[in-house]
Amino acid sequence: MFDLVIRGGAVVDGSGADRVLADVAVIDGRIAEIGDVEGKAKQVIDANDLIVAPGFVDVHTHYDAQVFWDRHLTPSSLYGVTTVMAGNCGFGLAPLTDTSGEYLMRMLARVEGMPLASLEAGVPWNWKSVDDYFDKVEDNLAVNMGFLIGHSTLRRYVMGEEANLRVATAAEVASMCELLRDALAAGGLGFSSSRGLAHFDAEGSPVPSRSADEAELLALAKVCGEFEGTSLEFMPGDIVGMTEEQVDLMVAMSSVAKRPLNWNLVRITEATAEATMGDLRAGTASAERGGKVIALTMPIPSRARFSFATGFVLDAIPGWAETMNLSSDQKLNALRDPSTRERLFNASDSAPRFLRELVDWGSKVLTETFSPAMKQFEGRVVSDIARERGTTPFDTLLDIVCDDNLLTTFSYLPKELTRGDWLVNVGLWEDGRAVIGGSDAGAHLDFTATFDYHAYVLEHAVRRHQALSLEAAVHHLCEVPAQLYGLQGRGTIKVGGHADVVIFDEEKIETGQIRTRFDLPGGAARLYSEPSGISYVIVNGEVAVQHGELTSATSGSVLRSGRDTTTPSL
Ligand SMILES: [Zn+2]
Repeated sequence: MFDLVIRGGAVVDGSGADRVLADVAVIDGRIAEIGDVEGKAKQVIDANDLIVAPGFVDVHTHYDAQVFWDRHLTPSSLYGVTTVMAGNCGFGLAPLTDTSGEYLMRMLARVEGMPLASLEAGVPWNWKSVDDYFDKVEDNLAVNMGFLIGHSTLRRYVMGEEANLRVATAAEVASMCELLRDALAAGGLGFSSSRGLAHFDAEGSPVPSRSADEAELLALAKVCGEFEGTSLEFMPGDIVGMTEEQVDLMVAMSSVAKRPLNWNLVRITEATAEATMGDLRAGTASAERGGKVIALTMPIPSRARFSFATGFVLDAIPGWAETMNLSSDQKLNALRDPSTRERLFNASDSAPRFLRELVDWGSKVLTETFSPAMKQFEGRVVSDIARERGTTPFDTLLDIVCDDNLLTTFSYLPKELTRGDWLVNVGLWEDGRAVIGGSDAGAHLDFTATFDYHAYVLEHAVRRHQALSLEAAVHHLCEVPAQLYGLQGRGTIKVGGHADVVIFDEEKIETGQIRTRFDLPGGAARLYSEPSGISYVIVNGEVAVQHGELTSATSGSVLRSGRDTTTPSL
């Protein structure tokens, strides 16, 4: 008797091979048979006219906190994701001292855009060791999660308040290495760190990992080499035009650990292809020096949504921070005051180059408005409204924002990728030095939303632009990221493998419209959408999502190094 048989679907197994019409039978969470399956089953799913593919793998998320209030990791699981990696960029939630949790909570609120109210109300913070944290995560988990061990977390643990002030002593580095050993022995999947220029803590200081010197990074990376099935993840700093120093550091970390290092993030279009491919030279250098450096790439155009309510990024405009940090009432008054407006406009008018596109106020689209009277402006370009009203673009934007109680969100004009853009993206995926990933799902909750990239690729690259076959796309979304981390029995549909499966209609799969939802603990907001065309999401043999509805199944597991992974090939 099988636990589950999926009947009559077109099996796209993740290897890139052509689809095969076959039944898929499951026993004890594993795939028992593929083909014409005879015999009874406790549950049968009719997959006629549907694709049966491996569950999607998302290698770069920040679901470390959300998992405590949302065991299904929505919306990722609704989008067919069955395995995520968390603990990225140096930001894990374990191990903790008596006081480091408080610091990490405030740091995450700032650096990863998780609302503080949700972190306070929705996370129990009642563990110390990584082992203990994993046990608490695994309780009722609906999706598979693997965790990297975060450098900033280790540094704060060992160095306390000096963690982001100075270089560590040899003894402190040794203590961090010991902690990392314990964490990897408990099943951590590797080590993560960041030199990201935008990574600041709640006090506005660079996050702890940014104070580390090269010797510290190499010592910690090397510890991973002692443990089977581990990897490295790194945010190398300013990544537009990578320096030789950055290349050398990543290559050195990978080769000293004898483990692959993945870094984020590259985006590529036809226009930027040449420069972007240049940033992959760390991949070439590492191959020559006995390591493996892989870039993560996100094929979704920027979806950043700005708002005066949060002031995120707007506070980087010189002279704006003070106003953006005011309470809502004060901010509303300030933005209505003509002299404050004039001061803000003049400051934005002389903003540095990287902010020029942002402060071209007339070119912004109002992505979402909230009060009924402002609904008419949703989806419209500011300069068009300004022309009708006879006001300047900046005044037009601020008038609407104020009448909308600051909540209005706005963005750049959306740039859909052309077929040519998709073709250079496919070239990048096939190059071998880049892997699709980098959604940051679980982070920047009210600012950006790329949790839906798997469906986006199938909808746009495969169906609309026919830039690659469905089979090839599934390979790049499933087996390739699974192999990056050495996951065993995931990312493919094979007899003996784990039954992580997504069943969808290749003619209908698509991403939903992104809207704000106020459903986080403490009433905070997040950007959210749901897909269409996905019929079932199966995690370790149990149905986790059925026709868009979450089930009560909690068959997810915490993936542990050595047990669920082997050392990825270099
Ligand atoms: Zn990240």
